[in-house]
Amino acid sequence: MTTVGVLGAGQLGRMLALAGYPLGLRFRFLDPAADAPAGQLAEHLRAEPDHPDCLDAFCDGVSVVTYEFENVPVELARSIARRVPVYPPPAALEASQDRLTEKTLFRELGLEPAPFRPVDSRDDLARAAADLGYPCILKTRRLGYDGKGQHRLDGPDDLDPAWDSHGTVPLILEGFVRFQRELSILAVRGRAGEVACYPLVENHHGGGILRRTIAPAPDLNPGLQADAEDLARRVLERLDYVGVLAIEFFECDGRLIANEMAPRVHNSGHWSIEGAECGQFENHLRAVLGWPLGSVAVSRPCEMFNLIGVLPPLEPLLALPGVHLHLYGKAPRPGRKLGHVTTFGGSDAVRQLLAAGDASFRP
Ligand code: AMP
Repeated sequence: MTTVGVLGAGQLGRMLALAGYPLGLRFRFLDPAADAPAGQLAEHLRAEPDHPDCLDAFCDGVSVVTYEFENVPVELARSIARRVPVYPPPAALEASQDRLTEKTLFRELGLEPAPFRPVDSRDDLARAAADLGYPCILKTRRLGYDGKGQHRLDGPDDLDPAWDSHGTVPLILEGFVRFQRELSILAVRGRAGEVACYPLVENHHGGGILRRTIAPAPDLNPGLQADAEDLARRVLERLDYVGVLAIEFFECDGRLIANEMAPRVHNSGHWSIEGAECGQFENHLRAVLGWPLGSVAVSRPCEMFNLIGVLPPLEPLLALPGVHLHLYGKAPRPGRKLGHVTTFGGSDAVRQLLAAGDASFRP
């Protein structure tokens, strides 16, 4: 019996397990949270990962270790990798945990990021804003997600409040990209270096959180998919990557501006569970286990809606044709991802049901 060890037991881990059970896999999750979504359906070690005894128990008997969040301490991933193969490689964590390192890598590999400047002092901030112009966005270099740790500056009057609100952590200032839409690509690379890419999808955010994904992205300019695949391949090869990698782009006047990457399965790939021949979760497992990759072909175009903060009335939702509901077993809380819905039918009825609890779906 093959057991996969997973750092983190959130919804991404839960969906990895759900994809792995038909393949005969077992899972062991490591996460301090008592009510973690993946812990409800698999072995769950409730501990902080830096406890030495807990690492022995976690690594014992697992064939491979992967992770479902990108803030896994790099040293921890490296120390596990001395006992058990860890995929994606710890170098991918290192590259993606710091926006400055990430954007520098993008630039080196020929992916065009938004213009950026590192900011370590109030003077740096004033100089960077003068260079990049307004509006611009001040972001923490580390630990930012779902738009957290970000501050938009519209003019010099915003310099002091933005600086004061961030304290003394390392920062980065980015030029504001006037994009037409947000796209992302999910690519998967196997242990032997084979690569497959899902189609670019179109993402809609509300309050910095992904709300909706259209798969594949409609009305794509010819060539953009090939461009995105080429860029993803460069990152995968540089990092000797194994597993699923997500790269988020802004589409801007026919070009792809690289925003950020995530070395893991990704919310904008949830549609692939039902919408692709082999979904991102199964393909991630196939990759990290050294198994053949599955087909990334779209079986049917679809839309994915996140259920955030509150759940909609479930029975009317399930009564709609072509709806697939995924709940993560989490208690409702504002801003929390509680589940998602993938729909092959018309999306208007789904959107109407979600609109009562989530203003971002109101017309
Ligand atoms: P991030 O945490 O970097 O993914 O940013 C969250 C969201 O803020 C993105 O999905 C965009 O909608 C917006 N955003 C981030 N960076 C920029 C930028 N440089 N220009 C315009 N919008 C941005």
